[in-house]
Amino acid sequence: MSRKHPPSTVLVNRTISTGRRRARTTAQNVEPLPESKAFTDRWWLTAPGHDESLRSLVERADRLYGKPPPEGYAWQSRSLGEGAQHLDAPTSRELARLARMLGTSPCHLRAHCLEDGPHLLEVSERRAYCPQCLQEDRAAGRPRIFRRAWARVMAVSCPEHSTPLRWAEPRLAAEVNFALDPSPLAFTEEDWEVLQLIERFARTLEACLWGDGLWPGGWRGNPHAARALLIRCLSNLCWRPASPPIAQLWVPPSIASVISFPLRPMPPLCGVPWEAVRRTGRPAWRRAALWLVAAQVIPGLPERWRPETIPEAYLAAVDQWWDDSPQSPHTQKLRQVHASLRRLCAPFLIDQMRFSPP
Ligand SMILES: [Zn+2]
Repeated sequence: MSRKHPPSTVLVNRTISTGRRRARTTAQNVEPLPESKAFTDRWWLTAPGHDESLRSLVERADRLYGKPPPEGYAWQSRSLGEGAQHLDAPTSRELARLARMLGTSPCHLRAHCLEDGPHLLEVSERRAYCPQCLQEDRAAGRPRIFRRAWARVMAVSCPEHSTPLRWAEPRLAAEVNFALDPSPLAFTEEDWEVLQLIERFARTLEACLWGDGLWPGGWRGNPHAARALLIRCLSNLCWRPASPPIAQLWVPPSIASVISFPLRPMPPLCGVPWEAVRRTGRPAWRRAALWLVAAQVIPGLPERWRPETIPEAYLAAVDQWWDDSPQSPHTQKLRQVHASLRRLCAPFLIDQMRFSPP
């Protein structure tokens, strides 16, 4: 150490010269950032709203201050790409820095974290919203925010209003005039019955898979079989680009705005099968798959609550396709995944359903 520049003196002088910001950093025992990432900014944002996710809060900052630099936000310890995966659940250190930038307490922010898990949509897919909640935000003069409750895989309606959730395109995230459509949808009574059936089924399945819910007596199969069928409906299990089974669904025009499916062929499923469902952020697509699964699981549904076409034949055709395909090392893994899902779906007797080539 240099006697000329004793560390303690340097620290005190620098603390005084750089102002109160650095003094607070030292006082709170948070590791100082390099000068390039020092806290030269303060985010002048309103505090997180009711149930707002931190990702939503950061999006508000982006709209106000513009996109962050490639090295990420000043409060992040990770690069922008890696950090984007953790916006909803920052580390304690990041949370302390973010709290300081917002002028609030880490404790307050922690209540808005969303720890990742299989019951949640994949992080970039958490863009479902309730138009009625947004209307209320607007009427009260609050910023429009994404709630954590809308990030669940099985959430297709708002828990507060029972309104069908809608989808906000990611490109809207960076726009200053963040225009989400708050207009109410006009449904017939029969449409509402179908939507409520899907909502109830999703809520029950969620409770059985990740809560303490009991599988209702009389329902076919079990929660894991229903989950396997959900994966089969939403993913492409063929070894070539193809439409998922939900694309075979016929939807009445009156309800097509909230029950739909991907129109383009999708690549074959790879990785963990459940991730294909977690990557389906659009509530309308999840609703379509849940409707199909509900129709298989719940016996004796009234005709008006059942989808007019159920792609049993399509699912059976995929089974047949694998039965007829020669073994290959390239397709071995997908073949195993398909066989496993097929076994789990046995309670629904897809193999015994009427088969006709699609
Ligand atoms: Zn709502």
